[in-house]
Amino acid sequence: MAAKSVAREAEEILLATEMIQLGARLQVLQAETSLSYDRLARLYREVRGCSPPKGMLPFSVDWFMTWLPNIHSSVFYSVYQYMDAHTPAKKAKALVEAYKLYLEQSSTGRSPDSTEEPVLSFTRAWMLVRCFDSNMVQLSHCTRCKGGFVAHAHDPQNDFVCAICRPPPRAGKTRSKAAAAHPVEVLRTARKAASKISPVSG
Ligand SMILES: [Zn+2]
Repeated sequence: MAAKSVAREAEEILLATEMIQLGARLQVLQAETSLSYDRLARLYREVRGCSPPKGMLPFSVDWFMTWLPNIHSSVFYSVYQYMDAHTPAKKAKALVEAYKLYLEQSSTGRSPDSTEEPVLSFTRAWMLVRCFDSNMVQLSHCTRCKGGFVAHAHDPQNDFVCAICRPPPRAGKTRSKAAAAHPVEVLRTARKAASKISPVSG
């Protein structure tokens, strides 16, 4: 067995710790680091003070297409894409940075002591990136607001109108929650945040 670099391992432990703090499930950590299951489980218990949850990850591509989750997923993915393309944060690190920004944006207007869970969990955000990587979903651009929105792969793109510009009638109750986060607005914020991470080149 090849000896693993200590520095590399330290880096992975830091990354895993950050992902656990954001709510990552063990399966996500296993996929994104080369740390053993036992070490990850131990790290999880140290960080969260409880055992990692067992069972399957929530998996449904259709979940990303329902009204409120679609808006939140689209916000997150737009930011992720920007981070991955324009900052030194790539892949798992881009995921972590984009998710932090998503949390900030999606909690705007919510009371600071609110214990409400974010609509898009870290594990689902990770799953969404995998769906994009395996071409199960695409980003369709709204003809009205120009924002990019998560859609099924191969869905027709001309005349596409997003879930914010044309909300379903039942959306009234949750509309205020979504209003805090329009992908176009959030992307603007993301660009500013990204320039703080490092000078954006190009
Ligand atoms: Zn729109």
